[in-house]
Amino acid sequence: MRKALVAGNWKMNGRIAKNDELVTTVLAGLAEQALTERVDVMVFPPSIYVGQVESLVRGSNVSVGAQNLCEYKDGAYTGELSAGMLVDSGCTAVLVGHSERRALFGDDDARVAAKVKAALDAGLTPVLCLGESLEERDAEKTLAVVTEQFETAVDALDVSEIARIVLAYEPVWAIGTGRTATPEQAQEVHAHLRGLLASRSRELANKVRVLYGGSVNADNAAALFGQPDIDGGLIGGASLKAKDFLTICHAAG
Ligand code: 13P
Repeated sequence: MRKALVAGNWKMNGRIAKNDELVTTVLAGLAEQALTERVDVMVFPPSIYVGQVESLVRGSNVSVGAQNLCEYKDGAYTGELSAGMLVDSGCTAVLVGHSERRALFGDDDARVAAKVKAALDAGLTPVLCLGESLEERDAEKTLAVVTEQFETAVDALDVSEIARIVLAYEPVWAIGTGRTATPEQAQEVHAHLRGLLASRSRELANKVRVLYGGSVNADNAAALFGQPDIDGGLIGGASLKAKDFLTICHAAG
């Protein structure tokens, strides 16, 4: 059985004092309900705050990840962060291929594949984000788009490497829009992704967690997480509010 996972993607939000308050409140709520026995919880702050958040969560069951990494090893890449640096700063996971990075910062499928590989080689868990635009959904290309995104990202990997990935299905039209995929719409894509994993190995399909992301909130989380192939969520806006994030974690457990 796959353990549920709820991950908070703070995006480009936060300040030292606010982060402190948010993380402290979330940790207290998780402990009070013993939630991490049933749900894995991760937070992805902006990289400059990874050290701060890591020191706050140290000793708890909450883990910290980065929102991006450079596909290259250390060297002359001004402004970038290597997988080794993320590990050194206490990250255990990293988001790769988030739609905002694909759309705004040139992370195409080839670069996403290289970043997934760099993360794995350093011992990080890549959370590989996939999802179609509204135009692609309206043209009934959803399954073809996510298939292409998945296959190119894992093409060069062996089964033991793919087993260490977490997938996150995030329809672009549902991100930050307040418009969530219905549980049935999400389940259809999750089942398809599970099928792609199964075509490589049955064990892989049973093991790899597939998260849903896109306007998940305290009200809709339970219905989404109730679907058989939805193993938790990647939460944007609602992860910045301790009470909502805790409700979402509770819904996953
Ligand atoms: P929202 O939950 O704000 O829609 O963001 C989803 C997301 O992009 C998480 O990575």
